[in-house]
Formats: sequence, C-alpha cells, structure tokens
Amino acid sequence: VPNAGGIDLGGTKIQAVVRGRGSEVLGQARVPTPRGGDPDAVVEAIGTALEAACVAAGCKAGALAGLGVGAPGTIDPARGVLEEAPNLAGFNEPYPLAERVARRTGVKRVALGNDVTVAITAECTLGAGRGYGSVLGVWVGTGIGGGLVLDGRPWAGRGAAGEIGHIVIKRDGARCFCGRQGCLEAYAGRKALEARARREHEKGRHTDLFRIQKEKGRPLLTSGVWAEALARGDGLAMELIERQIGALGVGIGSVQNLLDVETMIIGGGMGDRFGAPYIQRILEAMRPHMLQAENPPKMVGTELGDLGGAIGAALLVEPARRARASAA
Ligand SMILES: [Zn+2]
Repeated sequence: VPNAGGIDLGGTKIQAVVRGRGSEVLGQARVPTPRGGDPDAVVEAIGTALEAACVAAGCKAGALAGLGVGAPGTIDPARGVLEEAPNLAGFNEPYPLAERVARRTGVKRVALGNDVTVAITAECTLGAGRGYGSVLGVWVGTGIGGGLVLDGRPWAGRGAAGEIGHIVIKRDGARCFCGRQGCLEAYAGRKALEARARREHEKGRHTDLFRIQKEKGRPLLTSGVWAEALARGDGLAMELIERQIGALGVGIGSVQNLLDVETMIIGGGMGDRFGAPYIQRILEAMRPHMLQAENPPKMVGTELGDLGGAIGAALLVEPARRARASAA
C-alpha cells in the first residue's frame, strides 16, 4: 500500500507527515506558516514541508497515495475549498486550496478537512480513544473544538455536530468570536483568554504574560507563554486559567449529562501542554455539574500529541484503512 501524506496547517506552523500503517510516521517535517497574508506563499510552504517529510521517509511526493490537509477554518470538502480561516492571514475569502496544493506537490488526490476534526478522528481511531464505543474529544486551543464518536462511529450530525465551544454556559454572557453571547469558547478559548488578559493589563493590572511573549518572540500568547507565566506564579495568568477550567467544567460536565460517554480526550495546544494535572482539574470542575458525579467518564490526554493533526489529515485519503482501524 503506498504511503499517504498529511499536513496540519496551523496559524504559526505547518506540520507534514508521511504515514505508514497505523499511527506509524515514516517521516515528518515542520516549517513556519508564512504570515504575510499571501495564500500562494502558504501553498509553497506546504510543498516545502511535504518534500522534507518525503526525504525523511525515503519516498517521492508524487508516489503518495494521496495527501490530506487539515486547515483551521470552514471547509467545503467536496470542492476542496477553504471558505475562510480567521486565524490564517490572507484566507478571508474562498480559496481552492486542494487544487493549488495538488499542482504544487504533484500529488493527485488532495483532500481537505477541518484541523480539529481530523485530529480528534486520529485520536479516536489510532490514539487515546481507540477501542471505546463513545468518545468526546475537547480541543482547548485558540478556540474550543469538539468531536464525537457514538456507538463506535463518528457523529457529524448534519455536518456541523461537535461544536462544544459554542454551547452556552451563561445566558447573555461574554461576547464570543462567533458573534453570539455566553459561549464556552468566550470563557475558555486561548484567543478569548488573551483578549481578557490584554484588557486587564491595559486597566493597570500587573502581569508578566506580555513580557514573556516578547522574550519568547511569539506573535501571540501561545500555550508555552501561559505555561511559563504559571510557572512564575503570575497572578493574572493563574486567575484566568482557573476561570477557564471552571467554564470547561460547566460546559463539559453538562454535556456528559446528555451523552454519558465512556471517555473524554482533552487535547489541543493547551490540553497537550498542561497535560494530566490540568485534565484532573477539569474533571474536578465537572463534578458539581454531573448527575453521575461519582461515575465520571475516563478523562485522558492525547497519545499522538502535536503530530495528531497531520496524522489525522493523512486519514482523509485512506477511507479503507480508517474503517479497518475503527473496527480493530
Ligand atoms: Zn460562540
């Protein structure tokens, strides 16, 4: 079986993998995402990353069975179009990403998917969620993404299921980036946390968050910046993460009353960075809101880590293999 390629197109980096069987990665490479606002430059960088991953894997891009691309935005998978990606400079109108990537890389089959959806699918079939009949994935990153497996099968609803970030945890609450009010993401997404930290800082509240960002040369408050601030005992950072965990407890705990899943995977940039102690705190924050407080779901972190998105993207072009993996 020829190998498949996978690309995780992120706001700061592009991760490429060449995947063999299972979660085995034969080669991988990472390049920074061009931030100049030119989509063609992003396609060029995707090509560079894929070529480097192919060199590491000892194969040619043109010989791949296909290439999947996970992108952070609204996707039209049938047309291979990235409709819009608010967190990627230059992608504010529909762009034929699949076709352009195919032309640049020489791979004939290029499939597009949402970055969080493909990462959660990868964990459910090859990683922390394999073997469970019911799984909820909650990705704590720039926003709050979600994905569901029910009765052993991915549940997409009519195409839009799993948006746990936009369940309302407070009526008439904080304004969300989706335009509505009181969404979980408005209290727990990294972008919302950064906006709140900035407001507090501008009002005169002390915090090292923005100094650490500058020291690390990051364009925004990344998970690594938050981790460093917490390690230094930064008061505002600790308060905002506490608030975030409380919001996740309300949201995820309530959802568990509806779904009663066996396992929850907490992933995304912050989930991966903070790991087991953080997941334990989320569980404790869920308990007061759960009817089955003494019988909570198994709460785990990811197994594929930051390669999960690219591995999941590679799964987009391998429906046969994916079906076997789920059955295993
Ligand atoms: Zn929202």
